[in-house]
Amino acid sequence: MSVRRHNSSRSGSPRGSRGHGRRLRRRQRRFAIAALSPLTAIAVLLLAAVTLAVWSCSTDPGYPRRRPAPLPAAAGDGATPTLADPAPAPIVISPLFEAEPDIRVRVRQAVETVRIECSTPIEASVPEARPLVLVAPVIASSLPTGLRLTSGVGEAFDIGPGLDVTLVPIAASGSSPAQRPAAHLRIDGTDFPGALTLRRASDTSPLAFDVIATMAIEDYLPGVLAKELFANWPLAAYEAQAVCARTYALFVRGLDRAAGRAFDVENSQADQVYGGATTNVTALRAVRNTRGVVLTYGGALFKTYYSSTCGGRAGSAADVWPISRGFEYNLAPPIQGAGRDHYCQAARLYRWEATRTADELGKRLAAWGRNAGHAVRSIGSVRGVSVEKVNQTSRPSRYTVIDDRGRTFSLSGEELRVACNFSAEGYPAITPQTRVNSNDLEFIQMPATELTFLVRGRGFGHGVGMCQWCLKGMADRGIPWDQQVLTFYPGAQIMRGYN
Ligand SMILES: [Zn+2]
Repeated sequence: MSVRRHNSSRSGSPRGSRGHGRRLRRRQRRFAIAALSPLTAIAVLLLAAVTLAVWSCSTDPGYPRRRPAPLPAAAGDGATPTLADPAPAPIVISPLFEAEPDIRVRVRQAVETVRIECSTPIEASVPEARPLVLVAPVIASSLPTGLRLTSGVGEAFDIGPGLDVTLVPIAASGSSPAQRPAAHLRIDGTDFPGALTLRRASDTSPLAFDVIATMAIEDYLPGVLAKELFANWPLAAYEAQAVCARTYALFVRGLDRAAGRAFDVENSQADQVYGGATTNVTALRAVRNTRGVVLTYGGALFKTYYSSTCGGRAGSAADVWPISRGFEYNLAPPIQGAGRDHYCQAARLYRWEATRTADELGKRLAAWGRNAGHAVRSIGSVRGVSVEKVNQTSRPSRYTVIDDRGRTFSLSGEELRVACNFSAEGYPAITPQTRVNSNDLEFIQMPATELTFLVRGRGFGHGVGMCQWCLKGMADRGIPWDQQVLTFYPGAQIMRGYN
């Protein structure tokens, strides 16, 4: 048996004695009986709640659930769309998935303890063992030999090494991803729809475990939108973001599952920021309005990268990320950057400036080079930085850096951005005020006693694919979400991924 009740000091029983065994069985029975009567009450309450919810949904015409997304409608203030050729977006009724997929989100990385709250009891299960029913809150903590779960009434259960523990609100037990749990598990005030899995993360620390939230993808997306966009942005911007975020998540999910990974996406900017269940009405509505809608190229999902502010010139995925074996998806035509109108002039970092002295720039580049194993590790004081190569939108993709001994070094735009911000001994830590924010840069020598460069930059982020501040600008001009996304990903098709 891989799950055993912890022999707690409260019982005072000698471990392994027959007497203790009888007491344990009695305690288990008492626990089961004690758990039954509140459960019966909860079941009655749930039945009432479900009845109420069904009634409420069916009488609210504004927020239908599980209805196919309507065809795109004009949004924002009703102004005339300014894009040329606003061809209607085709929605091909040819689902890529048989049913709504789930998504696994890593919501805590390498923790040694976590407190999980819930308004109902929590079911904990491990492979090949009878599930446990625990009174909330449940505290999970690392042991050298596995995990200990301590329930809200002090019962402790030890889980054997190497086993994943899956927790669900008792009301959701046995439900399919298509069915919504009536209660949410909560960590540090954040509610998570669906299940939480505690998984040993020995690659990080021998005692640490990850917390992975698994939920239906349509339940995940509102929590992404609410974090990725400002609360007062228009619905059409949220709808476009929903389609991009859904496609991104499902594409990454496909890669991760093919590789046998334990989760699909991080809850951070490493993938998409996810803040748990949300009450943001625009986010919830945008996800419902675009239910199941994804972007494809050649009939398949592609990686719909997006960033905060393009600054006017879209980046190319092949310039920013690897394109070697296993990364061929970075060659997809819709994410290579193409000339288009842009609308992100209102962004705070549409244009920005930073400064670096020649010595500081050299030291930071050398420190980055030592860390990355790049030839620039031997650079001296910098004498100039020039654009070596641009993409088809004229955004620089490579730069040449020359030092005080006349040596030249070639860096990609992303390498240069990271290197400019790299920590170097003797220089202050980078702050939002001193940070180089993108890879679209111009270096100008300033008239100063010490050779200093003014770094003039455009935008914030990698600039590939959709630009969130352009979304805002387009939505404000009344451009609907389907025209927005097709502008950012030229050649892409809008498809229904599932019904
Ligand atoms: Zn933009």
